[in-house]
Amino acid sequence: MELVHQVLRPGALGLSHFAPGLLALALLAALAALPAGAAPAAEQAEGIPLVKDGQPNAVIVTPGEPNAVVRYAAQELNYHLARATGAKLPVVAEGAIPPGAAAVRVYLGDTRAARAAGIDSAGSLPAETFVLRARDNALIIAGRDAEGDPLDRDTPAGTLFGVYEWLERDLGVRWMWPGELGTYVPRARTVTARPADERISPRFFQRHVRHGLGFGDKLENPALGFTPKAAEQYARDQTVFLRRHRMGRGQRLTYGHAFTDWWEKYGKEHPEWFQLVNGKRGPTKPGARYSMCVSDPGLHRKIVALWKEKGGADPRTGNRFINVVENDFLGSCECKNCLAWDGPQPPDKDKYYAPNFKVYGARFVSDRYARFERAVQELAAKERPDATVVGYVYFNYFQAPTSDVKLNENVLLGYCPSAGWYPRADDEHAWYKRQWKGWRDTGANLFARTNYFLDGYGMPFIFAHQFADDFQNQVRNGMVGTDFDSLTGQWATQGPNLYLLMRLHTRPDADPDALLAEYYSGFGPAASQVKAYFDYWEKYTMDNRPLIHDAFFDRVAIRWRTWAKAAHRVFPEACFAPAEAILARAASAAAGDPEASGRVAFLQKGLTHARLCSRAAALLTLADPASTPERGKKALEELLTFRRANEGTHIANFNHEAWVEDLSWKLSHETKQEPEHYP
Ligand SMILES: [Zn+2]
Repeated sequence: MELVHQVLRPGALGLSHFAPGLLALALLAALAALPAGAAPAAEQAEGIPLVKDGQPNAVIVTPGEPNAVVRYAAQELNYHLARATGAKLPVVAEGAIPPGAAAVRVYLGDTRAARAAGIDSAGSLPAETFVLRARDNALIIAGRDAEGDPLDRDTPAGTLFGVYEWLERDLGVRWMWPGELGTYVPRARTVTARPADERISPRFFQRHVRHGLGFGDKLENPALGFTPKAAEQYARDQTVFLRRHRMGRGQRLTYGHAFTDWWEKYGKEHPEWFQLVNGKRGPTKPGARYSMCVSDPGLHRKIVALWKEKGGADPRTGNRFINVVENDFLGSCECKNCLAWDGPQPPDKDKYYAPNFKVYGARFVSDRYARFERAVQELAAKERPDATVVGYVYFNYFQAPTSDVKLNENVLLGYCPSAGWYPRADDEHAWYKRQWKGWRDTGANLFARTNYFLDGYGMPFIFAHQFADDFQNQVRNGMVGTDFDSLTGQWATQGPNLYLLMRLHTRPDADPDALLAEYYSGFGPAASQVKAYFDYWEKYTMDNRPLIHDAFFDRVAIRWRTWAKAAHRVFPEACFAPAEAILARAASAAAGDPEASGRVAFLQKGLTHARLCSRAAALLTLADPASTPERGKKALEELLTFRRANEGTHIANFNHEAWVEDLSWKLSHETKQEPEHYP
């Protein structure tokens, strides 16, 4: 039987703008732009040719009844191969390979061929782990998968992760932002799988950047955000993108403020479990937030008993994680046992906090919380040795302990500083890194649970290198997972921040500049101008720390919530012109390359949008008593018209902007309308 050459329709791939004559030019540009360390597969002398001269030379073979993860992995492999070469490989089930099929095979998932090669992906491999093996005319990608939606972060998808790993290594694919334009695939006539034999597990058991797709849920002024159709498309593309960067987790755990309903449930019978403040147990007034009396042994026993009731102690079916994250409130108990658990107060404990920050001046109680976590862990370990307590380091128990309190790897702590926004001064940055290290030195495992990516609104607010330094310090000091709050989707203005955030999850030890070079290479002949463009904004951001501090001082505006009150102060009109000039040079450099031109235009749109946001902020900010809806009407209409015209481009998650602007601007009834109706 003759093989059918399944070439995807160009239109379906967004390649239709490539006139045939331009293809060769684009190929050359793509090859020239390849990042260091990613030599194109076409140049590899040895290896397994999957596509030869634009024609399929291999068959993708799945198990007889492939699960959804394997089916999707085959689809993803073919999508990117077709973007690279125009050719797509036939997909066949093992046992139904037609006679005369190509001798070269790509085996995906738990095939008999993989088992014969000694790869027991369904049995011995840990969740999300895969084997990548290329030799003897076979590329085997077999991982530990499970049934379930391949895009769901709780579906183990080892085979899919293996395909992504291979696409990065051998095809040079880079996922720059969600959607087709942000998917950089070097053009090639021939694609070869290089010899490989590796077993790879994700470095972090949980890799999570909160998706930020809920920003549009309860907007007071929905006209500021996406139309429902655009929101849906954006959500779909971003979900695919996050999976391509291997977001997910190998173990399920839930955590979050654990005792919010305990006063109602247990306050009467067990007031001793709750904070003692001014001689009184429980909330200081009805309905107020409260913390717990974490030194109380009865509290520890109750926590473990509830975990046992839910089956947690059963190693076969139970969940070993025990959530002991304190309520969203300062650790406040003044009882003598809690005070006795505290370590010496650090002399610099308030040095990097603003005097109006609620933690400023509060008693430092980290050691007491460490002792609490250890007490619960030791109690639970009697039921099940691997029982693991999950807590936060937060508020007045954020700074590293000062006594000799020791923890162990069955205490997992979410590192959640409530200040320390980027950009930081050097000494401040070093101080924050020391807090992480100090916690690590107790023996606990840590995961990053920071809010820093909520910062920056739609502005070109770039802190890429400082963030990478923080992240890599954490990796070197026991980081086992991440949970970043949140992805605001500012792809066009904050690309380098976001690319490093994604890429460091799979390449945590890489030189950040090498990773950024990958990102810039996606702009083809404009790579160096685009680098200059983002260097300009990073320098601007880092140099303007005092200006940013002043603009947000006294809670005139809040970094994670009301940035649009201050956007015009941090990014005034005058800062945009030099950046626009650099992008104009980038556009000229990319002129011969339609794909690179499209990406430069994407950045230009992001910058135009930021400028329109800054201008509207100046006229509508709630921080200025003279603001009126009338004063900002024209600027707002221009901004929203721009949003409607560009909402399919993915330059930004406009629902995030809307969520910020809702609380930042003086608005009238017009923006209460649905986005389809206004302006
Ligand atoms: Zn107490």
